[in-house]
Amino acid sequence: MRIAIDGPSGAGKSTIAKMLARHYDILYLDTGAMYRAIGLSAVRNHVDVYDFSAVSDLIKKVDVQVKYENGAQAVYLDGENVNGLIRTEEVSMAASAVSAVPEVRIKLVELQREVARGQSVVLDGRDIGTYVLPDAEFKFFLTATAEERARRRTLELQGRGLPADYETVLKQIIERDHADSTRAFAPLKQAEDALLVDSTGLEIDEVLRIMTNAIDGE
Ligand code: C5P
Repeated sequence: MRIAIDGPSGAGKSTIAKMLARHYDILYLDTGAMYRAIGLSAVRNHVDVYDFSAVSDLIKKVDVQVKYENGAQAVYLDGENVNGLIRTEEVSMAASAVSAVPEVRIKLVELQREVARGQSVVLDGRDIGTYVLPDAEFKFFLTATAEERARRRTLELQGRGLPADYETVLKQIIERDHADSTRAFAPLKQAEDALLVDSTGLEIDEVLRIMTNAIDGE
């Protein structure tokens, strides 16, 4: 069983994907973390993230790996576990920019398909149902208004002790939505056969119930 969850940033994809993975006892792959690792590498190496040829040179030299440690996903960048370094706003924006570069996507999608091969998985991202696993058995497009997503993200960042201001977060979410859905190669888009789930005003348990009902055919 392969479950694809796509949607804009802050819609709750990773929370729900983790819950589904636990519910069905299957593997969860957070594909955004992989783009974030490349974004981090670009920031560290002072690569202009909007310069496609510079990013494509970078991706040739970067080693990205996904490992599972005590059931949790760890992303390794050139041998270093970078899980704790990829959730900043700077890395979010860099990840969104580098993800528009075809060479980056080709390399990461290959890795994603490798993880998904031969086992039951839930993947979340932007292009899972349309490009990475077009024949996934279950596809969802999870969304929410930009304001609701910004509100949740601000609370999440503040909860982790990071500085976060609602207006700035909202502006960045709108920018990222625009960049992710207008890029030429594998943009954020609802697959034709995906079920649209709008989580605005819904508790996470309600979202889970909608999805498990769809999967279990209830
Ligand atoms: O999901 P997350 O916010 O962690 O993803 C970070 C960035 O990586 C997104 O803004 C998007 O540009 C990119 N991404 C992507 N395709 C995916 C997952 C993430 O382009 N499958």
